[in-house]
Amino acid sequence: MRKFLLLVLISTLFVLLTFLFFSRPSVAIQEKYSLQKDFVPNEVLVKFKKDVGKYFIKNAIDSVQGKIITYLGEEIRTLQWNPELYSHRSFLLDSDLFHLKVPEAIGTDQAIYLLDLNPNVEYAERNMILHLCTEPNDGGFKYQWGLHNEGREDQGHGTFDADIDAPEAWDIFTGSSDIVVAVIDTGVDYVHDDLKLNIWKNPGESGNGKETDGIDNDGNGYEDDFQGWNFAYGNNNPWDDNGHGTHCSGIIGAVGNNNNPYGVAGINWNVKIMALKALNYLGGGDVANAIHAIDYATNNGAHLSNNSYGWIYDDPDLEENYWSLYGAINRAKNAGKLFIAAAGNTSDFPEPNNDWYPVYPASYDLDNIIAVSATDHNDFLPSYSHYGVYSVDLGAPGGAGGDPIAADIYSTLHNNNYGYLHGTSMASPHVAGVAALVLGDRPNLSWWQLKTMIMDSTDPKSSLSGKVRTGGRLNAYNAITESTPDLPAAPSNLKAEGYCFMIKLTWTDNSNNEQGFKIYRKSGNFWYYLSQVGANVTTFWDLELPPSQLFNYLVRAYNQDGNSPASNADGDRTLPLKDCDEWW
Ligand code: CA
Ligand code: CA
Ligand code: CA
Ligand code: CA
Repeated sequence: MRKFLLLVLISTLFVLLTFLFFSRPSVAIQEKYSLQKDFVPNEVLVKFKKDVGKYFIKNAIDSVQGKIITYLGEEIRTLQWNPELYSHRSFLLDSDLFHLKVPEAIGTDQAIYLLDLNPNVEYAERNMILHLCTEPNDGGFKYQWGLHNEGREDQGHGTFDADIDAPEAWDIFTGSSDIVVAVIDTGVDYVHDDLKLNIWKNPGESGNGKETDGIDNDGNGYEDDFQGWNFAYGNNNPWDDNGHGTHCSGIIGAVGNNNNPYGVAGINWNVKIMALKALNYLGGGDVANAIHAIDYATNNGAHLSNNSYGWIYDDPDLEENYWSLYGAINRAKNAGKLFIAAAGNTSDFPEPNNDWYPVYPASYDLDNIIAVSATDHNDFLPSYSHYGVYSVDLGAPGGAGGDPIAADIYSTLHNNNYGYLHGTSMASPHVAGVAALVLGDRPNLSWWQLKTMIMDSTDPKSSLSGKVRTGGRLNAYNAITESTPDLPAAPSNLKAEGYCFMIKLTWTDNSNNEQGFKIYRKSGNFWYYLSQVGANVTTFWDLELPPSQLFNYLVRAYNQDGNSPASNADGDRTLPLKDCDEWW
């Protein structure tokens, strides 16, 4: 990881020198991410338990001499803090979660230690630094082999048909401007010739001068956010000063068929890209910024989001779960939004396997995440791409990452340019693009139906078998022609109750079209299929378990078309909740 960071640092040095002339972000922002750390120093994300009073919250924050960083980036002392004020919140959609600045003398780790001792604290964690899942290369539709590969080996395009069958899909549908895709990234060149018609405008901040009146007209917490927001620098201009976000945006939705001789076609010719800049000109950002951006997308009408960034869980001694970011993605799930995430690019890990070295956010255990590996121009898994048969869902074109450059992904770049990039960063927006295309065609699909259709319609590839959950590569045509699955509703209220060497599960059946329920038990980080019961059954006994161990479960309803989303998870111990003597 350290070596990887150093490489990124060196390779971005030229970029840094170039961009300093154009953008000059504040010194504070430059320093925040240029340090060779995996987390933002002297910052903590702390969540208080529900209904903890103001007094106790202040006490806890004072115990680490913390200042509250508000969602707009101001620092306030607890003396001035007023929980009634919207503007004093650290996170708009989670008033119990605080972003704290602590003195250097205390530091992040000691602050976390102290806060964890406080009974009113649910969790305290580091504000992890995010990195883009791509590396820039120095580097028309005929270049877009990921969409349509004619097997022009001489041009480095690889194998005929190592593509997602975009033209075949476009015979059926080319996208809808009713679908909003949030691109949580380095921003978007929103005046790019091939993008400007497909940029989301906030209707609540548009017209009659609302764009510039300095008023939060729609009351969403952000002033004049007429075309997204810049969380990296704290203003209403989500301009892309890096190029990465514009590249991802072009894959999802460069305007198609617009007679631009140099242009490209997005998977959606029509769509709306919501520009949410969470990473700075170096491609650095942090978890706090990502939470803000995800919540903005959830709250302001995006149907799904693309997330081509992450960090690697590289310290086995750190038993952290990073619940703050999990919370934001879970809120997106509860609002019915898919979260498409890059699986990650390799560094010097023993194995780029997310099952053992999770990459967050891709590796979170949440049904609305689609985690994406990259494929190259021959449908192979490139060596840089992370994978994981339990934790990554499918492959999609991300480029070979070697010579020739034409084997990388061609798309829009900032300053009205075009060029090649590779990475799982590029694979993820292919999936986000196809999700938007299918949803535009069938707007009533639930997030779960949409995910099931994408997962069930991949092209099987031997290179992905045993590497990703589906064993296949994205196919736009297959996805859009997949029949709408009639999936059962998820069970709820799962309860696990421990008895003598047994655990009893009970749940609520919310479905009227299930063939039965599948029970899953957790082992390590993953859920394994355990057993199944018939339709309308709401009890299961897990028998002959070893004593005193904790077991975790979840349940899904299933039928001929597939599974429901997961129920809540619940766990218990086999002993000693009930006295064994009662039973013998
Ligand atoms: Ca606003
Ligand atoms: Ca306004
Ligand atoms: Ca175009
Ligand atoms: Ca039922």
